[in-house]
Amino acid sequence: MDKRTKAIHHGVRRSQYGEVSEAIFLTQGFVYDTAEQAEARFLQAGDDEFIYARYGNPTVRMFEDRMAALEGTEDAFATASGMAAVNGALTSMLKAGDHVVSARALFGSCLYILEEVLTRYGVEVTFVDGTDLDQWRSAIRPDTKAVFFETISNPALEVVDLKSVAELAHAVGALVVVDNVFATPVFSQAVEMGADVIVYSTTKHVDGQGRALGGVILGTQEFIRKTVEPYMKHTGGSMSPFTAWMMLKGLETIDLRVRAQAASAQAIATALTARDDLERVLYPGLATHPQNRIVAEQMHGSGGTVLSIDCGSKERTFAVLNALNYFTISNNLGDAKSIVTHPATTTHQRLPDDQKAALGITQGLIRISVGLEATDDLISDLTAALDAH
Ligand SMILES: *Cc1c(COP(=O)(O)O)cnc(C)c1O
Repeated sequence: MDKRTKAIHHGVRRSQYGEVSEAIFLTQGFVYDTAEQAEARFLQAGDDEFIYARYGNPTVRMFEDRMAALEGTEDAFATASGMAAVNGALTSMLKAGDHVVSARALFGSCLYILEEVLTRYGVEVTFVDGTDLDQWRSAIRPDTKAVFFETISNPALEVVDLKSVAELAHAVGALVVVDNVFATPVFSQAVEMGADVIVYSTTKHVDGQGRALGGVILGTQEFIRKTVEPYMKHTGGSMSPFTAWMMLKGLETIDLRVRAQAASAQAIATALTARDDLERVLYPGLATHPQNRIVAEQMHGSGGTVLSIDCGSKERTFAVLNALNYFTISNNLGDAKSIVTHPATTTHQRLPDDQKAALGITQGLIRISVGLEATDDLISDLTAALDAH
């Protein structure tokens, strides 16, 4: 079955009513026919047996099965948000004394988990420049338990060479855990490249319409059911059935949406590179991008749905942001609506200036998440705003 077919049919569990659209099992728990049945289910719940929504729910299970089928992993656990997924994947497997190597260019909340949470409980974390294989090589030790990185970093859009980092990690038996949001489930080749655990914020392209927070952890059945599930079900970060239903509806159109958004992003990036009033146009799909070669094999040749530009001074940048008509100033990405973000004063505001500089987060940087509006409208809107300021 092709990914596009799986995204629509895989994992469906129909009730006795034969509904077309997946049912929302909006229930906290499940009843048992007898006390003996309850006892047996608590001892060992079967595949289609549920106990309590924090542990699992039919609507959530449909979403988990479909995500695993799309990504090519054995199993998945759906979470309340992308951050619950990142935290669950890492915290469930690590203990005091363990060593982790992580790329430094991370989404702010991911950095908080690596830098503040894990270290508070005695996990040692070494940060590296994710694009520099020599730094990974010297930081990974025989006792390293896991490596963590965003396959494409936010907002500088650096692409990490997943295959090469996975080879270094696997040589010492470390698990490769990736936050794959910018690659999207549509272009992901994470399993083929050697990732062991893949995490998505499904708030982004999976929902794709700005309605709900969600996340998912993908991996082997052993890892998901023996390591992740006990941790998640007892600490409470599970996805709600209503959210799972929205995410299932999102998956039905994700392939069309993401491919159209990526094609539009490529066209916009190409149009903007022709201008001489921008300091930088960053897009992994441009031949001038430093990791463009990796994009070809790691992302099916697509640069994704997000680009970043540098307009120079903060004054000009704010004037450009305020002049846009079709781009909403917000901080989501992967949405049907095009969204512009000024990382230096919003998502990455709290980073010290030297770290901002190291990550390329200048006062002129605008992150552009390309939506589903007509590409020509988006290009003329950006062009008019830049021309006027
Ligand atoms: C948005 C995002 C997250 C966090 O996801 P939430 O659903 O907002 O909790 C984590 N990593 C990356 C790369 C993201 O873009």
